[in-house]
Amino acid sequence: MRRGNLFVISGPSGAGKGTLVSRIMERVPDAWLSISVTTRDPREGEIDGVHYLFFDDARFDELAAQDGFLEWAQVHDHKYGTPAQLVREHLDAGCQVILEIDVQGAFQVRERVPEAHLVFIEPPSLEELERRLRSRGTEDEESIALRMSNAKLEMSRKMEYDIRFVNDNLDECTDELVSYIERTAETDEE
Ligand code: 5GP
Repeated sequence: MRRGNLFVISGPSGAGKGTLVSRIMERVPDAWLSISVTTRDPREGEIDGVHYLFFDDARFDELAAQDGFLEWAQVHDHKYGTPAQLVREHLDAGCQVILEIDVQGAFQVRERVPEAHLVFIEPPSLEELERRLRSRGTEDEESIALRMSNAKLEMSRKMEYDIRFVNDNLDECTDELVSYIERTAETDEE
């Protein structure tokens, strides 16, 4: 059986990664989205085992000590990590495996899986990003300030990614991203 491909999708909070990823899941039949582990508290509406696996620090550290993460990083004051085993199993099963993770994690993945495809999603501008974060209504001022300063750091590394997409029109950006994934999957198969 042919092995699947690993796609890492990063970009600042508010760039629209989450929406784009759900659309990829609807449109690419063999895509599989990894569920990350996090030590942050669930937001309203988030379900343990669906949106994230919510662990306390001790449980997170235990999995890290067992080398159970493909990558992990401290993001916005909390730890986030990709459990390695399910990713391996889905790649072996021929899936297009999608990781939605931050830039620190993305470059750890590149070290461990050099053939991974690193995709950066950009907001049209930092002003638009701030507007989107505020309109979500889920973050307080401190969290918005932290996310904006992280966004600037993340944007400074976008040229190190294999490809970048500017999310100024959701439908167009979805089409471009889906066709990139399909094209890449076909090329890697040859
Ligand atoms: P949020 O708290 O808004 O769900 O996510 C915050 C940030 O953590 C986002 O940039 C998201 O991409 C990143 N993130 C989510 N899961 C992981 C993960 O498993 N590893 C890493 N390195 N970052 C993650």
